[in-house]
Amino acid sequence: MAFEDSLWHETAGDDFAPRPPLPGDIEADVAIVGAGYTGLWTAHYLRALDPRLRIVIVEREIAGFGASGRNGGWCSALFPPASSAIARGHGRDAAVAVRRAMHEAVEEVGRAADAERIDAHYARGGSISLARNEAQMIRARGVVEDERRHTGELEQLELIGSEEAQRIVRATRVLGATYTSHCAVVHPLRLVRGLARSVESRGVSIFERTAAAELRPGAVVTNGGTVRAEVVVRATEGYTASLHGERRRLVPLYSLMIATEPLPPEAWAKIGLARRETFADLRHMRIYGQRTADDRLAFGGRGAPYHFGSRTSPEFDRDERVHSALRDALVDLFPVVRDFSVTHRWGGALGVPRDWHASVGFDRQRGFAWAGGYVGDGVATANLAARTLAQLISGEESELTRLPWVGHRSRAWEPEPLRWLGVNGGRLLLTRADRSEARSGRPARSAKAFARFIGY
Ligand SMILES: Cc1cc2nc3c(=O)[nH]c(=O)nc-3n(C[C@H](O)[C@H](O)[C@H](O)COP(=O)(O)OP(=O)(O)OC[C@H]3O[C@@H](n4cnc5c(N)ncnc54)[C@H](O)[C@@H]3O)c2cc1C
Repeated sequence: MAFEDSLWHETAGDDFAPRPPLPGDIEADVAIVGAGYTGLWTAHYLRALDPRLRIVIVEREIAGFGASGRNGGWCSALFPPASSAIARGHGRDAAVAVRRAMHEAVEEVGRAADAERIDAHYARGGSISLARNEAQMIRARGVVEDERRHTGELEQLELIGSEEAQRIVRATRVLGATYTSHCAVVHPLRLVRGLARSVESRGVSIFERTAAAELRPGAVVTNGGTVRAEVVVRATEGYTASLHGERRRLVPLYSLMIATEPLPPEAWAKIGLARRETFADLRHMRIYGQRTADDRLAFGGRGAPYHFGSRTSPEFDRDERVHSALRDALVDLFPVVRDFSVTHRWGGALGVPRDWHASVGFDRQRGFAWAGGYVGDGVATANLAARTLAQLISGEESELTRLPWVGHRSRAWEPEPLRWLGVNGGRLLLTRADRSEARSGRPARSAKAFARFIGY
């Protein structure tokens, strides 16, 4: 079971004993399906707005089993889609409002975790994205210009030169980088497990090993009974396709990770990351890393295959080829890592809507609320989603409920086998684009074509 293979599992300081399953039919005011960040933060903020609400969470496995317990721990202000796409669709003010809300979300995660006494190893060191070939450098300039154009000075995304970048992280072949202070690192599983304990202590009921089969207006039908509730919240992200009627809503994309043994101070002197900055480079097939609180490198990337019919399974969390490519990529960034072991290998499914546009919404007539489609940027975004959902459900209007992702509907993914062909085709295309850019330094046209295909 790959959930248990992760570094986070080993270092969570938790016994993971499952809570009891739903014992039969019950009634609640709000029924939430999924105990990841989205479901748990939603319960947290709903209780804060109205402590009398009867809130029930049903979780198929245990709290934190999904992406929330396995991710790279970037609590970042990244938001899908990019500011330029938001500005195109909704105007510049909307792009600025989303950026501001995401900056706030990065801080709120740390603040709320502190207030709930969750030791999630939150550290706000910012984030650096390296340009390691000319094509990536062109992209770095483009991203910074785009952000300036669409969100003004708010983003504070800086383009920095090679020397300044090396002062933060000493990777190979660095031509320059973008840097933002709006990012923190967390221990993802400590955060989600702590949240579960915290909402439970405030009266929220969590039933684990309870699988929802169908979400209906006013009811969640599970293997343990039916939860009748005025409001039903779908918070199942990468697993949504297994719900009745939701097969083409979100595609589960697997992101895989590795972690090294703790590295000694001599190795860190060669690597940097003194403030635990998150790091990546600007390749298309995204990679991401963090220096953990116990001085390891935790490093991940996309590139694992999409499985026909949007299936998820623990066996997909391990992929020899991708895990060993991740180690190679890490050694390529930091040659000193060659002398140290990779101690953990794991992975998980994130949720991707057809237009790569996250959304949150509440249909009051049907009593149905949802949030997700964060692609790979859900750590802070789920917190923003939850605060927004809590307000939508409580009928409060605010800046949050006016953000342009509220009520956004992505179109459905294509039926199979087109979905399989499209997603895996795109994956190969981006891998090739990265290789060609590394060789020639010229931006690959195929990557632009893919961006058009997904409607970005
Ligand atoms: C390897 C990896 C690395 C990532 N790195 C980052 C990162 O560094 N930064 C970042 O911002 N984002 C990252 N992400 C994405 C981020 O983790 C997710 O966007 C976020 O955790 C989504 O939270 P969630 O609560 O919506 O979904 P999840 O955490 O996936 O929770 C959904 C829950 O629903 C449960 N469930 C599913 N179906 C049912 C059912 N039928 N009945 C009952 N329960 C059900 C699942 O068991 C699961 O616990 C990463 C994701 C992965 C997989």
